[in-house]
Amino acid sequence: MTKTIAKTGLAAGNGAKAVAGLVVDYAPSIESDKIVTIPPRHQLYIGGQWLKPVEGRYFDSINPATLQVLSKVAEATAPDVDAAVRAAKRAYDRTWSKLSGRERGRYLFRIARLIQERARELAVLETLDNGKPIRETRDVDIPLVAAHFFYYAGWADKLGYAVPGAKFAPLGVAGQIIPWNFPLLMAAWKIAPALACGNTVVLKPAEQTPLAALKLVEIFEAAGLPEGVVNIVTGAGATGAALTAHPLVRKIAFTGSTDVGKIIARSVAGSGKKLTLELGGKSAHLIFADAALDQAVEGVVSGIFFNQGHVCCAGSRLLVEESVAARVLDKLKARMRKLRVGNPLDKNTDIGAINSSAELDKIRRLIETGKREGGRYFEPENITLPNTGNFLRPCLFSDVAQADTLCRVEVFGPVLAVSTFRTPAEAIAKANDTPYGLAAGIWSEKGSKVHAVAAQLKAGVVWANTYHKFDPASPFGGYGESGYGREGGRHGLLPYLEVQP
Ligand code: ADP
Repeated sequence: MTKTIAKTGLAAGNGAKAVAGLVVDYAPSIESDKIVTIPPRHQLYIGGQWLKPVEGRYFDSINPATLQVLSKVAEATAPDVDAAVRAAKRAYDRTWSKLSGRERGRYLFRIARLIQERARELAVLETLDNGKPIRETRDVDIPLVAAHFFYYAGWADKLGYAVPGAKFAPLGVAGQIIPWNFPLLMAAWKIAPALACGNTVVLKPAEQTPLAALKLVEIFEAAGLPEGVVNIVTGAGATGAALTAHPLVRKIAFTGSTDVGKIIARSVAGSGKKLTLELGGKSAHLIFADAALDQAVEGVVSGIFFNQGHVCCAGSRLLVEESVAARVLDKLKARMRKLRVGNPLDKNTDIGAINSSAELDKIRRLIETGKREGGRYFEPENITLPNTGNFLRPCLFSDVAQADTLCRVEVFGPVLAVSTFRTPAEAIAKANDTPYGLAAGIWSEKGSKVHAVAAQLKAGVVWANTYHKFDPASPFGGYGESGYGREGGRHGLLPYLEVQP
């Protein structure tokens, strides 16, 4: 049952104070965390065994909503990474490269089904370790994880159709390094196509969010995946660097920051390793005057505020046609006042916890820079934040100039930069005026305008009258400083194959 609040405050678990007539009050609906068992200590998963790290060091994985330690996780150093790569190479030579595509596909189908069966458990674990709302992990992340394994399971015995008329072969060991914002989804984007093509894997999850990937081991083992086909080494940048430098690794797939992407590109240059980089973004929404404005506002809100703005293709810039700018801004502010910030396990929560204290500090610093540079700042002050944990109110800056920091630098938080345009040409020029090029959103009722504008945007993905829609059959990737190579779809197979015409 829902009702419109007149006077009362919101129940615990929601972060919005009552504002007469504005906020719909829901009773808290907390997802139980009893479904998931988190071992107090995690070792490295190498060659089908849990091994202690050679140097015996462990780091904490923290729940950003409570700041409690969830588990101690092994820190892999170069000798551990070497053992993992060698285990992957042995599994490649002895087992995985000898299987038919059909047999590889059967393992992947099994993994996909097991992920579906354990979806709730994985969603809760992902929410605990990452801080994103359970609604997101339950309805978006985990279903997409299963969908990716299903999709690439289907390709495993049909690779000849992906490269018609060409000879092809797997590469060998793939080193895969992933970030903290979509821990399981990024693992799926990387592991599923690699295995479908016949490669074996050493995965390095982000140091902030390793737990869900480590939980996948139970699923791999239940699916009977041969030992060494997937190995998981945990640790921070030095662990990733040891993986990229290893001479037996034939391919590196990286998702993360542009700065680290550049370091990795330099480190593999001249080594013959294949490389795909999925990096940062400063993606723009373009709202034209003829758009369905309420729908557009909802798309903008979900594209930057849901998921705390922790999305590489977040729509962090809004370009709105001048004649409707005031109306759009009013609607946007009204909608922001209704957002619920708080306990990520509450099914009503829109905005969960910022993933780490370091990230929260970085976002706050950029907000201060935005205020200094003179954009007009708005945050919904009716939203109260929980007393503990890494929480932040969503905010926007209007009247920002193209040269302002908030228009140029990736914030990776719930911060929106708003400016206006008068003509489609100006909108396109402003949208493309960025070193990045990951995604864009066009909002217009006119199909011809949508197509004409989309063709001129330098972005790997352009959504029209929607945002953040993903499908495993659709390739994803960027231009410029957003990286190169594509993941997803048929395109996502090619970086994992040696193709001879
Ligand atoms: P973010 O800013 O999203 O945290 P990073 O690029 O710092 O992204 O991290 C993404 C992944 O890259 C993480 O798994 C991290 O441990 C890893 N990483 C960081 N530095 C390096 C490096 N020099 N070489 C390889 N991997 C690295």
